[in-house]
Amino acid sequence: MEATSRTCLKDIFGDRFKDSPEDRLCYAYDATGKEFLPDAVAYPVDAEEVRQAILLANERRFPVIPRGAGSGFSGGCLPVRGGLVLSTERMNRVLSIDPANLLAVVEPGVVTETLKEEARRFSLFYPPDPASMKFGTIGGNIAECAGGMSAVKYGVTRDYVLGLEAVLGSGEMIRTGVSTAKGVVGYDLTRMLVGSEGTLGFVTRATLRLLPLPESTGTLLALFRDNGEASRAVAGIVEARITPSAMELMDRSAIDCVRRVVALDLPEETGCALLVEVDGAPPSVASELEGVEMALRAYGAIEVRRATDGPGRERLWKLRRSISPALRKIAPVKLNEDIVVPRSALPEMMAFLSELAARERLTIVNFGHAGDGNIHVNVMISGTDSDERRRADAAVETIFRKTVDLGGTISGEHGVGISKAPFFEMEVGPLGVSVMKRLKAAFDPNGILNPGKIWLEESAVTR
Ligand SMILES: Cc1cc2nc3c(=O)[nH]c(=O)nc-3n(C[C@H](O)[C@H](O)[C@H](O)COP(=O)(O)OP(=O)(O)OC[C@H]3O[C@@H](n4cnc5c(N)ncnc54)[C@H](O)[C@@H]3O)c2cc1C
Repeated sequence: MEATSRTCLKDIFGDRFKDSPEDRLCYAYDATGKEFLPDAVAYPVDAEEVRQAILLANERRFPVIPRGAGSGFSGGCLPVRGGLVLSTERMNRVLSIDPANLLAVVEPGVVTETLKEEARRFSLFYPPDPASMKFGTIGGNIAECAGGMSAVKYGVTRDYVLGLEAVLGSGEMIRTGVSTAKGVVGYDLTRMLVGSEGTLGFVTRATLRLLPLPESTGTLLALFRDNGEASRAVAGIVEARITPSAMELMDRSAIDCVRRVVALDLPEETGCALLVEVDGAPPSVASELEGVEMALRAYGAIEVRRATDGPGRERLWKLRRSISPALRKIAPVKLNEDIVVPRSALPEMMAFLSELAARERLTIVNFGHAGDGNIHVNVMISGTDSDERRRADAAVETIFRKTVDLGGTISGEHGVGISKAPFFEMEVGPLGVSVMKRLKAAFDPNGILNPGKIWLEESAVTR
């Protein structure tokens, strides 16, 4: 970035513009563990400052990278071509909660759990619950269309975004969508921006849909001998016409991984576990728990544990919540994918993953949102053995091919970013890529916003 650009940015942001090596380093990473240094970072406090920075970037041709908490798993906020990181840390206000219209208006840097807590004070519910919600931001969730445990019943971030205010890559400010329960005027630009990974517009404000808070919740942990029984039970619960608010599967590799670091009181023959949660009015929770338990037993559960109070439910969640921390202890490098297959293809995909791990002599830990057919596939490697690395990379590609062949998608919630860019065309095809590039040009003609993401190609912007 040229000296004159830095001077102009200092005029816009004052001491909220930083370009010391220390400050740049703090914004060089995300949850992928990869690092790319930005040229500078700035902390806008409102949409006007975002607009001025993006207009300047268009004039001077430097990249602008929107950033929330940096918890993305696909490298979305990494400044791969340098440029200016615009952090939403200072745009973190819940502007209003409207119980009459079931709406919230928020700035993009609001931490997801903060919004959930604010809504709860009005007995309202913002359902999206990515496991990163204690630190991830609404802006990052919107850009990645984040999901979570409750997506099986309540859907993902996209389903709660009614309208947005954003500064496009061109530097123009736009308001999209509605503040009403429905609306169909024109193309759905809100949906274009949701999941666009910070490449089309910088979200400066969001109008979000809220629901009444469910009155009660019940949880079941079912233990099975193998993946096949557990994944068939997922289909069995859906066929029983029950929609749980969470349905999480943990295969033997995930259970073994947790066993290495935490004492688990599970029968020796446990080869797979399924955690199912239902919520709603107490009588419907009670009858749904009965129905789910019947289905779990019918598909071969060796044991089903049940809890409806807070501490009891927390005990049942322990296995699921321990997986991510335990993964960090079993191997230094994790190739973390989040494929989705049609629910009916889940048994085939789970069997395929076990066979692939054995054939390629790899540790592949699988768990995730089974109710959505969304499996978090983690290929665990040392990072120092080049043959193992080659087998792991080839396994990831094989998994993506199998996923697409089964009618699935290579990312359910983490986005493409830089991690899945090499496989993007495999799923969307050449015409899909071409149409998306034309859309990108309409929003961001000079390729200013978050270059080097989603597809493999030299961007219009170079350093
Ligand atoms: C421990 C852990 C658990 C996770 N669990 C889940 C999970 O259960 N479900 C799930 O879906 N994801 C999960 N994730 C990944 C998830 O994508 C992120 O946590 C979250 O959506 C990113 O939010 P962030 O604020 O950290 O965004 P960042 O990582 O900072 O950015 C992510 C993307 O959003 C863009 N962006 C950020 N703010 C804006 C804005 N205002 N306007 C436009 N673009 C913007 C960035 O440019 C980037 O492309 C997890 C991550 C971690 C580390």
